[in-house]
Amino acid sequence: MTDATAAQLSDWVVRFGEAVQEHRAELTELDSVIGDADHGANMSRGMAAVLARIEASPIADVGELFKTVGMTLVSTVGGASGPLYGTFFLRFGTSAGAAVTLDTAALAAALRAGLDGVVARGKAAPGDKTMIDALDPAVLAWEAAVADGADLAAAAAAGSAAADAGRDATIPLVARKGRASYLGERSAGHLDPGATSTALLVGALRDALAAPS
Ligand code: ADP
Ligand code: MG
Repeated sequence: MTDATAAQLSDWVVRFGEAVQEHRAELTELDSVIGDADHGANMSRGMAAVLARIEASPIADVGELFKTVGMTLVSTVGGASGPLYGTFFLRFGTSAGAAVTLDTAALAAALRAGLDGVVARGKAAPGDKTMIDALDPAVLAWEAAVADGADLAAAAAAGSAAADAGRDATIPLVARKGRASYLGERSAGHLDPGATSTALLVGALRDALAAPS
């Protein structure tokens, strides 16, 4: 597989928006158990604004595209997830810069920059039962695939599988960040909503890269 094109990266954003819409009720249901039942509404409001913005005037420059996505999420989502996902996309865009295409290593670096941004903003560590528990393993799997000389499709598949496994591994965890942490031990036994939406994010990237550019 060749490098990721701007069209594929834009398609990633669209696919994530569609996935969030499709899973809106599920994300809200998960957040109703250990949070305040708004994660589906937060993510779908933010991504609907993003898709409306992209449809109104498509953005060819990768750095500019992700800057717009990030700014839109920060400004339209009131919950914790808006600034966190917004930071992910802003940092991703800064790392990608004005590149026209991204190879497997450049994409890994941009994902790493996004992850680092979320950690800097939210101060969560792996095991705190947050979106980091899906994003961190995804980036590590992606980097390991790059070190093995894997192509884009293989790296993306490994990243998505790791995000799914990380999402599922949040079930027994006790939340130490965000609203779910107010529940203490009672947060154990449930999937984390943010880790669930992050698995959708990485799955959408895998699917966008597998589609013809
Ligand atoms: P809010 O908690 O403000 O209602 P959402 O319901 O939209 O916002 O998002 C909740 C999700 O945000 C959680 O499931 C968790 O994955 C993620 N989250 C919360 N706080 C943090 C944090 N400090 N760092 C990383 N992720 C976090
Ligand atoms: Mg919430």
